[in-house]
Amino acid sequence: MTSIATHRGQPIISPDKDRFLTEENPFEAMMSRFDYAAQRLSLDPGLYKVLRHPEKQIIVAVPVHLDNGEVEVYTGYRVIHNSSRGPAKGGIRFDMNVNLDEVKALAAWMTWKCAVVNIPFGGSKGGVICDPSHMSMPELERLTRRYTSAIIDTLGPDSDVPAPDVNTNERVMAWVMDTYSMHKRHTVTAVVTGKPIEMGGSLGRREATGRGCMIVTLKALARLGLPVKGARVAVQGFGNVGSITAQLLEQAGCTIVAVSDKTGGIWNAKGLDVTDLLAHVRKNKFLTGYPKGEGIANEELLTVDCDVLVPAALENVITSKNAGSIRAKVICEGANGPTTANADRILEEKGVFVIPDILANAGGVTVSYFEWVQDRGGYFWDEETVNQRLEKIMVRSFDEVAGMSDTHALNMRTGAYMLAIERVAAVHRLRGMYA
Ligand code: NAD
Repeated sequence: MTSIATHRGQPIISPDKDRFLTEENPFEAMMSRFDYAAQRLSLDPGLYKVLRHPEKQIIVAVPVHLDNGEVEVYTGYRVIHNSSRGPAKGGIRFDMNVNLDEVKALAAWMTWKCAVVNIPFGGSKGGVICDPSHMSMPELERLTRRYTSAIIDTLGPDSDVPAPDVNTNERVMAWVMDTYSMHKRHTVTAVVTGKPIEMGGSLGRREATGRGCMIVTLKALARLGLPVKGARVAVQGFGNVGSITAQLLEQAGCTIVAVSDKTGGIWNAKGLDVTDLLAHVRKNKFLTGYPKGEGIANEELLTVDCDVLVPAALENVITSKNAGSIRAKVICEGANGPTTANADRILEEKGVFVIPDILANAGGVTVSYFEWVQDRGGYFWDEETVNQRLEKIMVRSFDEVAGMSDTHALNMRTGAYMLAIERVAAVHRLRGMYA
C-alpha cells in the first residue's frame, strides 16, 4: 500500500523532491519523521542531505557448512548511518525479514537514539537473513564467526560496536568478541556490548532496555496524572524487552492484563503473574498453553482495554488499519519502529501519548555505553550504580524530549527527533566537512 506522507493533514515535502511513503517500509517510515523534524528545525539543506545518507553500507555473502555437510550461503548487512558523535553503535539481528532498507532504518534510529540520551555514539546496525530457530548451535556459531570476519574492517571499539538484537544474545556477542580478538591477536572486550558478565559484560545490561521502558512509562503516567497502581498494561513480545518491562512495571504496581509472543497472546483482566509466565516460558519456550488466562490473537493484544500498551516485538505492528481501535492512553515503544507514520497521526488525533522508540528503548544502548566505558577503563561498577546512572539519563532524556515537544507544541516523537537531529547537526557544524 502506498500513500503520500503527511503530518496533520499537510504533505511532508522533502527539500529536494516530493516523496511517496510506503507505510511498511521502515526506512521510509524513519525518513518521514526525520524530514518533518528537519523541516521544523529549518535544517540547512546541505546537512539535511548528509544526514539522509548512511555513511557506509556493507553487503556480505556468509557461506556456512551445515551439520548435514551441505554449504548454505547467507546474506549479511552492516550499515553505519552516522559516526560524527563517536563510534557507531548498533545491534546485530538474525531474522528472515532482514533486508537492507530495514537495516538502514535501524542504523539511523541508533544515531537519533544515542543523541536523544546524549551518549557519545553514532548509529549502525547489522543483520543476517536466516532463521536461527532452524539452526543448530554449531551452525549459528559458524554463521556468526564468518559474518563477523566478513565485516571485521568496520568493527572496533573506536569505530563500530555491535550489540544483541532480535534473535541474537550474549552467546552470539561472545563469538563476535572472540572472532574479532583472534584477528587482532589480543583480547578486545570493548568491541561488542551485551556480552556475558564473565568476559566484560555489564551488570544490568540484560534488563536495561526493559528498565528504561519502565522508567519512561512511569514518567508518562505522572505527566498525564494517571495512577501507577493498578494501571493496566498490555505487552506485545515476551522476549528480553517485553518480559522485563512487564516484570518491572508489575513490581512498580501496575497490573499486566495481556502479553503475547509469536505464538499468540494471553489475556486476563484481573492480571497475570509475570513470574509465573516467565517460568512457563522457561519450561515451554513460548507462552502458548499458559493456563491462567484466555488465549487471544496477536492482533487482538494491541486493541485490548488497557492504560499502557508496550509493543516490544517487531516494527510496523501499529498501522493505519488498527491505530483507530487502540484503547491505551500511553504507548511505550519498546520495539524499534512499531508504529507507522500513518498510524502516528491517528494516535495523535485520538490523544494517545506515545513515548517514541528512540527514547523509550534507549535504556539498552545507554547501559551498552556503560559497558563500553567499563571495558575501556577496566573497572566495573556494581548493579546499583548502573541502575542509578541509567535512571538519571532516562529521566533527564524524557524531560528534555517533553520540554522540546512543549516548546514547539508537537508530539513526543517529533520532539525527540528534533532534539536528536539538532545534537548531531551541531557536531557536524563544529567539525565542518573534510574535503
Ligand atoms: P527477543 O528476540 O528477545 O524477543 C522478541 C519477542 O517478540 C519474542 O517473545 C517473540 O516471540 C515475539 N514476537 C515475534 N513476533 C511477534 C508477533 N508477531 N507478535 C507478538 N510477538 C512476537 O527480542 P528483544 O531483544 O526483546 O527485541 C524486541 C524489540 O525491541 C526489537 O524491535 C528490538 O530491535 C528492540 N530493542 C531491543 C533492545 C535490546 O536491548 N534487546 C534494545 C532496543 C530495542
